[in-house]
Amino acid sequence: PQRLIGEHALITGTAGGIGLAATIAFLREGARCTAVDLAPTLSPELQVLQAQYPEHFQYVAADVSRQDSIDAMVAAARARFGTVTTLLNNAAVFSLGPLLEITEKQYDVIFDVNVKGMFFVMQAVLRQMVADGCKGSIINLASQAGRRGEALVAHYCASKAAVISYTQSAALAMAPHGIRVNGIAPGVIDTPMWKDVDAQFAKAEGLQIGEKKKAVGLAVPLGRMGDPADVARAAVFLASAEASYITAQTLNVDGGNVMN
Ligand code: NAD
Repeated sequence: PQRLIGEHALITGTAGGIGLAATIAFLREGARCTAVDLAPTLSPELQVLQAQYPEHFQYVAADVSRQDSIDAMVAAARARFGTVTTLLNNAAVFSLGPLLEITEKQYDVIFDVNVKGMFFVMQAVLRQMVADGCKGSIINLASQAGRRGEALVAHYCASKAAVISYTQSAALAMAPHGIRVNGIAPGVIDTPMWKDVDAQFAKAEGLQIGEKKKAVGLAVPLGRMGDPADVARAAVFLASAEASYITAQTLNVDGGNVMN
């Protein structure tokens, strides 16, 4: 049986790997989905979903780092499908930088999207849930990078540690309303983001294209990079009634990379 019938999921970053896989998974489980990304028009993959699920799918272009854009996005979501019952707060950006060379601009871009964006998207959706008396759930995309520092990615790691912290605080603040707030900390997942990550590592460490990606996959205890669908399945679980007693947790979906 479908596990998300009657739910309305707002999913950000749906033109990328995990966001797209999650949108497909949520639609298959019977949810209505408001899919969000930066581009004014749908990616080819989202066009397919629009055609496949005309009654359950809408696309809204928004920039999660801007409050006016967030407000318009949440209003558009509600106008079409009613109260958002599940938020998959997934949009984020990555950049590499040796600690001594990280620029203020680089730092601001990462924090504007990954921390400020995630926080205010969560706040906007939570305000709507509380106002509408909805006992929904929030799922924030953190990372194994939020559990442990990395020499070349300090600003990104710190942004993801902040996501884990906001997840805990929001869970406590929202528990009296019956709203659950959890996170997912993926390990290395084969998405468009990793194409970019691999290229940046190749430049920084003098490697061939594809070399870093291959090495990180082999280093995972389960012996492979994750598939976006691996993360999408965890998101479906956390959004579903099966997870009704789970809140304030950030679930590692990483093939065994991190053990706490
Ligand atoms: P991706 O780059 O494939 O997709 C991210 C999407 O977010 C893109 O489509 C991008 O356009 C969108 N986006 C970026 N800035 C935005 C903004 N300001 N407003 C709206 N949309 C915006 O990334 P992914 O690998 O699918 O990652 C998804 C999430 O998982 C991110 O939070 C990422 O940090 C996290 N994560 C990924 C990995 C991995 O190995 N791929 C590992 C750990 C955590």
